[in-house]
Amino acid sequence: MTYASVLVDVSVRQTDRPFDYLIPDRWHDAIQPGMRVIVPFGPRKVQGFVLAIKETTSLDKVKEIEEVLDVMPVLTEELLLLGSHIAQKTLCFLISAYQAMLPTAIKAVYKKHVQITSDEVYEALPTELAQLFSVVKRREWTEVESLVSKISIVQRAIKEGLLEIEYEVKNKANKKTERVVSLLKVLDEDLKNISSPQQKDIIEYLRMNGQTSVKELKEFLQITDSPIKTLQKNEFISIETIEVYRDPYVGSDIEKSKPLPLVDEQRVAYEHIVSSFKEREHKIHLLHGVTGSGKTEVYLQTIQEVLLKGMEAIVLVPEISLTPQIVGRFKSRFGNDVAVLHSGLSIGEKYDEWRKIQRKEVKVVVGARSAIFAPFENLGIIIIDEEHETTYKQDEHPRYHARDIAVWRGEYHNCPVVLGSATPTLETFARAQKGVYELETMSMRVNQGPLPEVEVVDMREQLRNGNRTMFSTLLHEKIIDRLEKKEQIILFLNRRGYSSFVMCRDCGYTIQCPHCEVSLTYHKHNHSLKCHYCGYETYMPKQCPSCQSDHIRFFGTGTQKVEEAITQSFPEARVIRMDNDTTSRKGAHEKMLKQFGNGEADILLGTQMIAKGLDFPNVTLVGVLAADSSLHLPDFRASERTFSLLTQVSGRAGRHEKPGEVVIQTYSPEHYSIELAKTQDFIAFYEEEMKIRRSFHYPPFYYLVLISISHTDLIKVVKVSEQITGYLRENLSNRSIVLGPVASPIAKIKDQFRYQCVIKYKSEPALYDVLNRIQQFYQEETDKGKLQITIDFQPTMFM
Ligand code: ADP
Ligand code: ZN
Ligand code: ZN
Repeated sequence: MTYASVLVDVSVRQTDRPFDYLIPDRWHDAIQPGMRVIVPFGPRKVQGFVLAIKETTSLDKVKEIEEVLDVMPVLTEELLLLGSHIAQKTLCFLISAYQAMLPTAIKAVYKKHVQITSDEVYEALPTELAQLFSVVKRREWTEVESLVSKISIVQRAIKEGLLEIEYEVKNKANKKTERVVSLLKVLDEDLKNISSPQQKDIIEYLRMNGQTSVKELKEFLQITDSPIKTLQKNEFISIETIEVYRDPYVGSDIEKSKPLPLVDEQRVAYEHIVSSFKEREHKIHLLHGVTGSGKTEVYLQTIQEVLLKGMEAIVLVPEISLTPQIVGRFKSRFGNDVAVLHSGLSIGEKYDEWRKIQRKEVKVVVGARSAIFAPFENLGIIIIDEEHETTYKQDEHPRYHARDIAVWRGEYHNCPVVLGSATPTLETFARAQKGVYELETMSMRVNQGPLPEVEVVDMREQLRNGNRTMFSTLLHEKIIDRLEKKEQIILFLNRRGYSSFVMCRDCGYTIQCPHCEVSLTYHKHNHSLKCHYCGYETYMPKQCPSCQSDHIRFFGTGTQKVEEAITQSFPEARVIRMDNDTTSRKGAHEKMLKQFGNGEADILLGTQMIAKGLDFPNVTLVGVLAADSSLHLPDFRASERTFSLLTQVSGRAGRHEKPGEVVIQTYSPEHYSIELAKTQDFIAFYEEEMKIRRSFHYPPFYYLVLISISHTDLIKVVKVSEQITGYLRENLSNRSIVLGPVASPIAKIKDQFRYQCVIKYKSEPALYDVLNRIQQFYQEETDKGKLQITIDFQPTMFM
């Protein structure tokens, strides 16, 4: 008897542990950890992951596994281990940790088919399978499963490439296949004996063009299936079905690129990283390089070394900068060895990319946060570009940070992790300074060009001088100048802080979402007001609901409004506007960047979306319209984010031969994060900011945990919050600081009242124990879903 411990897919704390099930005889030897199964669970049948196989069980009565969903494990041994690490460290359900590692499509797998890989392999099949597939080449998995004596026979045949599994995924994620024709041996004599001119054409065509799809053949030669079939029957040609991946980058004709000779600073960094790789040392390298210092080229060449040794690489880039520009650089260096994973892909496309990794068809994955779970088994390097980006932290459970996962996997594989940034987080830079991380510095731009000249304009002064437009006199002049010179301009609107909200000029009333306690955003195209948290939508009122004045207007600056202002001030300028509204259609993002790159526009106007990764040689001016809107967020990282954003945007200018200039417009020119952005002096910023963090007990001097409590009943929320903070104060050591409870900055979302408290600690041995007990105490209530308690370690958002 063998048993499997199965973790069932029921997100309730009580069931978040493995249960033993009996492995049916014919599955004996075939079931492995990491496979998904269907098991009876109470009155229901549920999905689960096999975590381990065992010979004994302590249970008296064991139920049998009902169905097996995977023929090969979808989670590797390493990922199984990693999952329990994540569950422990983030206090999430183990099942959620595993689910986070798999592409969505795999969860929706309904039907599987087993098919022969090609007619040729038929001979090699064991008798039992040969019988099964002699007439029908493709059978439903459940059928095969019930007909064969032992599943391991099927498994072996799959491993040997004789059979393959085809997943039929809902949501149109079906594999795309194509029937292709190949020429078998045809002697000149044979050709003489063929009388049909169509058949002769086919052979001729295949001789010239090699393997061709049936579709192309029919289209090109204007023939039906019949001559093709006859040739196949006479064994002049063979037809097979091959899989074509839905590669979203196919057709964007990428040229092959060669490694560039590295400049000195690049070489030093490259050598350090490659040496950790060769020595199989798990070192963490911080690649601190100014914008344009050639970090990407260093990544490419270190990956090259890794590939030479037959190993694999994961590259994370922030979602927002997963532009064709970045992806193209990897694709053009490594061609089909690269899989790309980002949220712009359809569920099916993501699944395709993931399977390329699983089947070891690629060696490099470039992707956003979740790509850190790529099921590689032979990792040689992990790279996180723009490591300071907040998108690397998942803000729903499991609340993991990709950097922590990278470090864990790097340790598991004994391979280096590279964190790259021009403006690393204070936490990372502090570790590098202490020698915990290796610091590689690249302070020069590759083109030897200086960093762009940055000027800060005080917008208050502009107003005093009677300039009521969005453009300061200086920025206005420079835009005119570039338009004349036919050089390009990037205008950046920092609107993380606020966007266009509506306010009454007479009484100051602002229109808020009735469910969320945030201002509604004005949308011009349909004249509506929308809540960005819950989607609530309403009409723009003609009068103030509070004082009936008709002086109700929208404030703040949306990109639409800036676009209008540009058209007014610079009627001759051609503008491309990039924001969430204009890029929501698939492929729109790529298209707009391509147009701008081709010089089809003079000005690229956008939000955060254009701050990163873009590299256009003809851009010589960058204008930041309102630098300080991110400074006034209720978040201790507001200065860090502002500095980093300004540095990133400024870095878009003058990256090639032509020198660049940057104009930063602000209402708080004296703030150090803006002053220091002028010189792009990261070290000076770091030192200034560290002083503040030290005196206010913030990271990197303290670690943080954010506990958020929400419920539709305000009294309940307050009561639970007070209980929790009380419990924390009693049970944590007195070196730890407990703040709160207070109402969250957004005090209500979707009718749920929200309270929070924060723990600051340096070292707190009781932490996990105490938090676990809190979770358990409220378990019954939170399992029901009305009360929510979330625990976020090292939070990046305090909203
Ligand atoms: P970063 O990622 O640090 O902003 P990039 O890697 O994008 O910098 O490099 C900036 C520009 O310099 C790119 O156009 C890149 O092709 C070019 N570049 C990088 N390394 C070299 C090199 N060794 N020689 C010549 N050009 C280089
Ligand atoms: Zn709302
Ligand atoms: Zn009013």
